[in-house]
Amino acid sequence: AFRSSFQYQALPMRVLFEVGAVAKVGEELDHLGLDRALILCTPEQRNLAELVAGHLGDRSAGIFDQARMHVPVETADQARDQARDLGADSCVVIGGGSSIGLGKAIALEHGLPIIAIPTTYAGSEMTPIWGLTRDGRKQTGRDPVVLPQSVIYDPSLTRTLPSEISAASGLNAVAHAVEALYAPDTSPIISLMAEEGVRAFTGSLPEVVADGDNLGARSRALFGAWLCGACLGSTTMSLHHKLCHVLGGSLDLPHAQTHAIVLPYALAYNETHAPDARAALQRALATDDDPSLALWDLEQQLSIPHSLAELGVRAEQLPTVIEEVLSNPYSNPAPVTEAGLEHLLTQALQGERPT
Ligand code: NAD
Repeated sequence: AFRSSFQYQALPMRVLFEVGAVAKVGEELDHLGLDRALILCTPEQRNLAELVAGHLGDRSAGIFDQARMHVPVETADQARDQARDLGADSCVVIGGGSSIGLGKAIALEHGLPIIAIPTTYAGSEMTPIWGLTRDGRKQTGRDPVVLPQSVIYDPSLTRTLPSEISAASGLNAVAHAVEALYAPDTSPIISLMAEEGVRAFTGSLPEVVADGDNLGARSRALFGAWLCGACLGSTTMSLHHKLCHVLGGSLDLPHAQTHAIVLPYALAYNETHAPDARAALQRALATDDDPSLALWDLEQQLSIPHSLAELGVRAEQLPTVIEEVLSNPYSNPAPVTEAGLEHLLTQALQGERPT
């Protein structure tokens, strides 16, 4: 049914999407009226930062390669100090969600503008969501000041992303689109992006996994990442994200893999209560079957862990997770009950076909 009452706030990022677009990073600085940039990355993506530095020439102020997961506030302060000492007026962030998280923290704390060059499918570059760890506690929030001024999507940079990370990261993105379709604050615009985002990924991930050098498939997947990230940036997430947040936080599980495993089960839980989302996902997945089953079937072909047990979760850990998920209410299409969560998590623990 058409949703005839909604709000939609377009987010202002400029996007450059092209194989080889990383070479245009200097032009992006010009376009934004910026002079010299500090390049941010994780230690593992140092080579990518050096590639950017090569393209920037003397407009590179240097490389800060200490980005880490969960963004310790000390790291953001260090990077900001380095930017100031080196006379940078901006940051170019290259890498996955961890690097982009550092760029956002610097934008939040110190107001430095950022250009993001994402190399995974996490989608953080499209959201105003920031995270920062202070005194061992992770804080998160939303603030438009952390949005990159410009995002450069260059599919050629994703060719080195290993197939397991590509698949898990892609399904993490698909989860954003799935929950955007039934979000309390969804809109017809977001539904378009979400449906196309799911189509782009589910159509391309098997090819990406079969041949990481397939630039056509890589381009389609990265386009999907953009759309799915935009969905996350504009809507409120439900049960699936709550479950992954609690599982990740309390059991220290890997982010993207946890999302990939939980998604078919969370969708099975919700799909009969969200008929419009179900129909959109059936179109995107080209199936008449339940979308949760089509997604589960697709995941079986991909090289990712398929059960929480494979991540080391044990049955006796589930009751605490359930308790925490139930402890504060949030919107969800299907009522969230203890029995329902027990069923969902037990299936996810074993990796069986969702029912
Ligand atoms: P990540 O940045 O840690 O990257 C995942 C892995 O991919 C790392 O091992 C990294 O070294 C590797 N990698 C990255 N680019 C590569 C490349 N081109 N070639 C080879 N290897 C490469 O994690 P992620 O999965 O991109 O993002 C997850 C993190 O981002 C989480 O901490 C999550 O909370 C955060 N996140 C935030 C938002 C947001 O809106 N704020 C959205 C999504 C994810």
